[in-house]
Amino acid sequence: MSGGNIMIRNYDKLIFELSKEGRTGYSLPKNVFKEKYSLCSLPSNLKRECAPELPEVTEFDVVRHYTNLSNKNFGVDTGFYPLGSCTMKYNPRLNEEISALPSFAALHPDAPVETAQGALEVYYNLAASLAEISGLAAFTLNPYAGAHGELTGLMIMRSYHQQRGDTKRTKVIVPDSAHGTNPASAAVCGLEIVEVKSTADGTVDVEDLKPLLDDTIAGIMMTNPNTLGIFETEIPEIARLVHECGGLLYYDGANLNAVLGKCRPGDMGFDIMHINLHKTFSTPHGGGGPGDGPVGVRAGLEALLPNPQVKKDANGKFYIDTDEKSAGYVSNFLGNFGVLLRAYTYILTLGRENVKMVGPLAVLNANYVKESLKNEYYLPIEGVCKHEFVFDGLADKSTGVTTLDIAKRLLDYGYHAPTIYFPLLFHQSIMIEPTETESKETLDEFIAVMKKVAAEAVENPDVVKSAPHSTPVRRLDETTAARSPKTTYRQLVG
Ligand SMILES: *Cc1c(COP(=O)(O)O)cnc(C)c1O
Repeated sequence: MSGGNIMIRNYDKLIFELSKEGRTGYSLPKNVFKEKYSLCSLPSNLKRECAPELPEVTEFDVVRHYTNLSNKNFGVDTGFYPLGSCTMKYNPRLNEEISALPSFAALHPDAPVETAQGALEVYYNLAASLAEISGLAAFTLNPYAGAHGELTGLMIMRSYHQQRGDTKRTKVIVPDSAHGTNPASAAVCGLEIVEVKSTADGTVDVEDLKPLLDDTIAGIMMTNPNTLGIFETEIPEIARLVHECGGLLYYDGANLNAVLGKCRPGDMGFDIMHINLHKTFSTPHGGGGPGDGPVGVRAGLEALLPNPQVKKDANGKFYIDTDEKSAGYVSNFLGNFGVLLRAYTYILTLGRENVKMVGPLAVLNANYVKESLKNEYYLPIEGVCKHEFVFDGLADKSTGVTTLDIAKRLLDYGYHAPTIYFPLLFHQSIMIEPTETESKETLDEFIAVMKKVAAEAVENPDVVKSAPHSTPVRRLDETTAARSPKTTYRQLVG
């Protein structure tokens, strides 16, 4: 190439100010309807006095700008995404196709039930499948997310006690390892939170639980496997104790992926649970949704499920019902229907046999990664984990390299960072969840990179401490980025 005046455009630098006076994206043909629909007929208070201050760009500028931006995105479709607790599994494209079918996607939420029988059947059948998978009697699909499901479940718990005239039960027990949404949902529901401690092996401490149980306890919220990826083995005893004191057991089903097809919360003694369809049952998520958080209850609590409820009459016709014992309304309509369709498609494509493989394969993958890395990273809780596990930073504590540094360095190698600094039980938590959909090759590559980062931390700690080096922006002030994002394309002066 000749050495002319070639400017290398660096697409890693985000160029936002592209406007050039006079440029337009398109030109419209002359308005032949002018006489009939003249702008002059608009009332003057609706008319603009000066032109809108929009960027003046060609369509091509816009397409190129957004395409380059989208290439900076990271998702399950671009690479390995071991974000613990979030179950970032592959979402089959078939689910997308089904949820986009016009007969579903174009259905009005207020359509008369006669014209919405197919959609109601999907709702009814999915609820029945979830009931069978979890060993409970009935499900509502109305809540929009896991946390929303928790609130719904706690409303059911509160209504159960209130309708029995047992009004003293205002406290709910939450383990110290719980996801932050558990105490938050309890607080929103007006319940007082009592914390129960974990033992050194990461499970709920039954001896710490016993003195907390009295006639003011509405119930306990548990996650199983818990947020450390450890199976709670004392559940039969905990269920006996909590029921004996008159409380109910709530199961946070966000980690259901680990036990899918192996064991059922209903059989363990739980009364109420939620499932995160967007985690276990495959819907693209992250960045805020959409999701769905169905709530199931054991026999005897069905009437308390939120209104409206979908039912089937003796002739096989579906109808929408309300129950006066219901804990109330939690959503305008019948859940995020597009997510329900994806989950239903996912369950039907896997079938009874393959649904049973999800949990065991997720557990196998997690244990493979954990065992392969436990010399380089500090494993605070030994033994078989379920679908995820937690390291407490590097095994070599002398390097000064933190969990944040490791997470940032992984970005340079093309990986989404694991969940960091959660759970709060350890100072340097790194929580890894590979999911069942990753191949051994992908896991091996990730293991090699994690080992490389651990080696760098010893040999060249500065390169890890100053990572990332390859991303468009370096280390952000994450609080400010979340609290006061700059949402204008204009460069802000000063
Ligand atoms: C994800 C998660 C939640 C919250 O679910 P959302 O759908 O994000 O509201 C609750 N508990 C646990 C253990 C989780 O992992």
